Amino acid sequence: MKEYSLMINGQKTAPQGGFFDVLNPATEAVVALCPQASVEQLDEAVSAAQACYESWQHSSDAERKKLLHDIADRIEANAAELAQIIVEEQGKPLFLAQMEVGGAVAWTRATAELEMPVDILEDSDTKRVEVHRKPLGVVGSITPWNWPLMIAVWHIMPAIRSGNTVVSKPSGLTPLNTIRLVEIINEVAPPGLVNVVTGETGIGSGMTKHPGIRKIVFTGSTPTGQTIMRGAADNLKRLTLELGGNDAGIVLPDTDPAKAAEGIFQTAFLNMGQTCAALKRLYVHDSIYEELCEKLADVAAKQVMGNGLDEGVTFGPVQNRAQLNLVNELVEDARANGARIICGGSLVDGAGYFYPPTLVADVTDGCRLVDEEQFGPVLPIIRYTDIEDAIKRANATDVGLGGSVWSSDIAKATQIAGRLECGTAWINGHAELLPYAPFGGCKMSGFGVEFGQEGLMEYTSAQVLNINK
Ligand code: NAD
Repeated sequence: MKEYSLMINGQKTAPQGGFFDVLNPATEAVVALCPQASVEQLDEAVSAAQACYESWQHSSDAERKKLLHDIADRIEANAAELAQIIVEEQGKPLFLAQMEVGGAVAWTRATAELEMPVDILEDSDTKRVEVHRKPLGVVGSITPWNWPLMIAVWHIMPAIRSGNTVVSKPSGLTPLNTIRLVEIINEVAPPGLVNVVTGETGIGSGMTKHPGIRKIVFTGSTPTGQTIMRGAADNLKRLTLELGGNDAGIVLPDTDPAKAAEGIFQTAFLNMGQTCAALKRLYVHDSIYEELCEKLADVAAKQVMGNGLDEGVTFGPVQNRAQLNLVNELVEDARANGARIICGGSLVDGAGYFYPPTLVADVTDGCRLVDEEQFGPVLPIIRYTDIEDAIKRANATDVGLGGSVWSSDIAKATQIAGRLECGTAWINGHAELLPYAPFGGCKMSGFGVEFGQEGLMEYTSAQVLNINK
């Protein structure tokens, strides 16, 4: 069985804590062995990143841009292997894994091209005031299991682009693609610039509390984000927290169900629904409710569920057993409370964590499936008659990552979208992220943004030069 290594100071490093199994969610077979780092090895990784920071913080813009483009070239050259690893440990169909690798390349190049501006606030005969952006130091990146490669890239690239160094800790459920990514980065990067330290016992919390780490960028669940925030208090680490959501989509009565169904389905079930900003609660006007339910069921019926490496498969398994059990529990709870299961709705016999695309109708707020983030292949469809009531219900949650309005009247939809309490509101779409648009949540979906100029600035602090001429 293949054993992966840690990457510390540019060296593949054997773990001091042994190995643990990484499972294939489609078969439950072991894919490979992931290293369990010791806390001392975390310290070594932080020291290596600190040593590299001494020089990297002074690297030129041109040097950083070139490195990111070189990394993008190396990711492209290894795209087939990375996509294969993603399918094997994460479960998504191959075409989606290829999309993830393509996205990683595109985001790396887009980040390379961002600028580190110097703002001039005053330039008079007697005084000049400049605002420079300085890197922070060592950045700790902690990532989840749904889009593991993409999210690692989202954290690592802006950190190094702005002059920081990185210690990365991927989820123990999908660590292999990130280990491989960091190996690839180390083919072209100076030693210690990007390190990877895996392990599920004490590594994430150790990073959170580590005095040598200046910032944590975390993508994952809200409860873990809260724990990280507490741990980060001791040395006042900067934080970017991209946490859970429960995105509502509101479908206005002027929507053509036949036209909208495909887009709604794809953005709700993207990555088997395991996407932070997927559509997770659908509010549909009574006048088109039944027709839209039917059209969505037609799209669901076309999905081919199976092992993501098999030809023609469009729908993979849920990534892990705990998530599968949660999805099943939420559907059973809805069923027990009188909901109508339009399609799917039951566990599949045999190996693998398969759950078919599931549409649940005649369900409403107050039911667990509507109130909680399902993070899996099930969509509750809620009927409304009054738009003001629908907006109120969409906002009646303590999270606020994304939201959407579906309508043929763009002006009206835009006006309603502006009233949704969330970081991004889409019109006739959902879950689309752009490398130039700030992405992040409000309320308990976290704070700070990623992407674009605003995202890059989160890896810096301002230094004012106040020059008396
Ligand atoms: P999770 O919070 O369980 O784990 C995320 C990461 O945190 C993993 O690497 C895990 O090992 C680590 N971790 C766990 N406990 C820790 C601790 N005490 N200290 C430090 N690190 C710790 O999340 P998950 O189950 O992997 O991911 C699913 C969740 O992530 C969902 O809620 C989803 O909405 C959210 N998510 C959000 C975004 C976003 O951009 N807002 C993107 C993807 C996923």
